Amino acid sequence: MKLDETEEMRDFRMTARTWLDTHVPEERPPAEGAASREFATAWLGALHEGGWAGLAWPEDYGGKGLSPETLLIWYEEYVRARAPSTLDCTFVALNHAGPTLIACGSDAQKAFHLPRILDGRAIWCQGFSEPGSGSDLASLKTTGRVEGDHLVVNGQKIWSSFADIAQYQELLIRTEPGSKRHKGLSWVICDMSLPGITVRPIKNMAGVSHFAEVFYDDVRIPLTEVVGGLHNGWATAMTTLGFERRTAAMALQLELSVKIEELIEMAGAAPRSAVSETLCDLRAEAAAIRAMTYRTVLREPETPFDGSLVRLAFAELAQRIHRAAADILGPEALTDGPWTHDYLESYSETIAGGTAEIQRNIIGERILGLPREARA
Ligand SMILES: Cc1cc2nc3c(=O)[nH]c(=O)nc-3n(C[C@H](O)[C@H](O)[C@H](O)COP(=O)(O)OP(=O)(O)OC[C@H]3O[C@@H](n4cnc5c(N)ncnc54)[C@H](O)[C@@H]3O)c2cc1C
Repeated sequence: MKLDETEEMRDFRMTARTWLDTHVPEERPPAEGAASREFATAWLGALHEGGWAGLAWPEDYGGKGLSPETLLIWYEEYVRARAPSTLDCTFVALNHAGPTLIACGSDAQKAFHLPRILDGRAIWCQGFSEPGSGSDLASLKTTGRVEGDHLVVNGQKIWSSFADIAQYQELLIRTEPGSKRHKGLSWVICDMSLPGITVRPIKNMAGVSHFAEVFYDDVRIPLTEVVGGLHNGWATAMTTLGFERRTAAMALQLELSVKIEELIEMAGAAPRSAVSETLCDLRAEAAAIRAMTYRTVLREPETPFDGSLVRLAFAELAQRIHRAAADILGPEALTDGPWTHDYLESYSETIAGGTAEIQRNIIGERILGLPREARA
């Protein structure tokens, strides 16, 4: 599947390529902590100065309002230039907090937060999951009691990526006492420096702390920080997840094709050997993911749940590519190189943003029309 490029799109591609070739930093981003934040914000600052930040955002909010096709070209050039992964600490702010504020926020929220997100001044994290409420998000228990013009928040979130270095959090809490499931929730902007918040980083098996537990002990958040209406948080959260699952994943999907080419180069496998056959299969599968990405970008998905197909296929292929890399590297895979780190991180692909089992449930029930699983 190929893009039908107009002259204007070709010009855009060449301008993007030239800029990226001269601005992409040569060093690999630090894995965690303040150093990773400095690197990511410096890179976003450079993108912003060059006019390449917020490409999907509407022009009224400082973005470029690019069409999906042109955005696809940008990300093709982005991964070709081996630019830093888009899945860094600026990801939440740029790809779902900002777009959620644009869709559901008040004028004051937009005026304050959007410029700070676009130029990298504000890092955001997401506080949706709780111990016992991940796949089943509607069972969440963290509460926000209305007291005058404030919410008083108590409870715990977990797996909140970059919570240790973020200034703000998309916080989903239960604000209507006695409410059940998706009713009575609110989506709130939580200033991470407020008294009563404790952040405890969690180390993953790659040895880095990308995510954290966050504890809330009588945290007072002004009611003006509610986004999309008090007790209406489920609708706002679905808006957020819709952004997370759509354009935000484009670069990551296209990146797989680049990774497999790197692996082929690194392996130097003899033609018709077992290794070269594995690599050929993986290259074909990466091309299929690329085609699926094109399909969802270039025409409306056939069902609103097509994203689950791409998400599942991407996650499982990413793991297979990294497993193949570990096999090819042999004993070297036990050392602390970038492929080893990426191999260990790839295990999270079938968990983050909705597990593989949940994606299969969605595909089965919503796309194939199979009977729904029993609900408690
Ligand atoms: C790298 C990474 C980053 C993350 N970042 C964030 C973040 O920034 N903010 C945030 O809020 N969350 C974040 N998460 C959390 C993520 O959203 C949850 O881990 C995910 O939704 C799964 O929830 P859980 O871990 O509670 O597992 P559970 O929901 O407890 O699931 C446990 C197992 O049971 C299976 N299962 C559950 N329900 C069903 C079912 N109905 N049918 C079949 N199988 C089922 C699951 O597939 C899984 O295998 C992150 C996770 C990872 C790995």
